[in-house]
Amino acid sequence: MTHVFPPAAEPTLPVVGSEETVPIHRIYCVGRNYAAHAREMGSDPDREPPFFFMKPADAIVPSGASIPYPPRTANLHYEIELVVVIGKGGRDIPAESALDHVYGYAVGIDLTRRDLQNEAKKTARPWDMGKGFDQSAPCSAVQPASKIGHPADGAIWLKVNGETKQSGDLAQQIWTVPETIAYLSGFVTLAPGDLILTGTPEGVGAVVPGDRMEGHVDGVGDLVVTIEKA
Ligand code: MN
Repeated sequence: MTHVFPPAAEPTLPVVGSEETVPIHRIYCVGRNYAAHAREMGSDPDREPPFFFMKPADAIVPSGASIPYPPRTANLHYEIELVVVIGKGGRDIPAESALDHVYGYAVGIDLTRRDLQNEAKKTARPWDMGKGFDQSAPCSAVQPASKIGHPADGAIWLKVNGETKQSGDLAQQIWTVPETIAYLSGFVTLAPGDLILTGTPEGVGAVVPGDRMEGHVDGVGDLVVTIEKA
């Protein structure tokens, strides 16, 4: 059997120091995983288990790219996040062995059409069009855990045009990476190539055409992405 038309291109991410790439399967995102960001979004961080939303795999944008300002928004926000790359799938993964399922880590930005997300919250509708739009997931090259280990603390920050906007520490995550994998794998069977964006520290804000975002996670890497001039 052959396809009736060629399949869409398979999204991939480069691996640092390698000619090989990571094939991207799905992109899961954790909401409100840093207490101060949960508070700035009007929630009480102490009362919520983790919750998840998704972006399409082809929302991935490599570091260094320029992307157009997306349509249907006047409030495009950055959210700097540690990205977990699943290398070995599974379901009901215990937190104790969850890190065995991680291939590596990257630096990502959860670009958000905040006005659409806020409208969706207000009307109890899905977040998809606020979160899962084209080119909404800029992501750095992947660092294998075999090289860098499993970062549980260290600086995570984002600058816009050289000015620091977000500055936190991975140790501030409400749900750790092993806990997040354990929890998420109770809802869905994780597969190789699944990414998990693990939430953002406080300081989210808007970018406009011409802005240059630079993100960093200690021990993982850096990410640069520019919004094209109008
Ligand atoms: Mn986010």
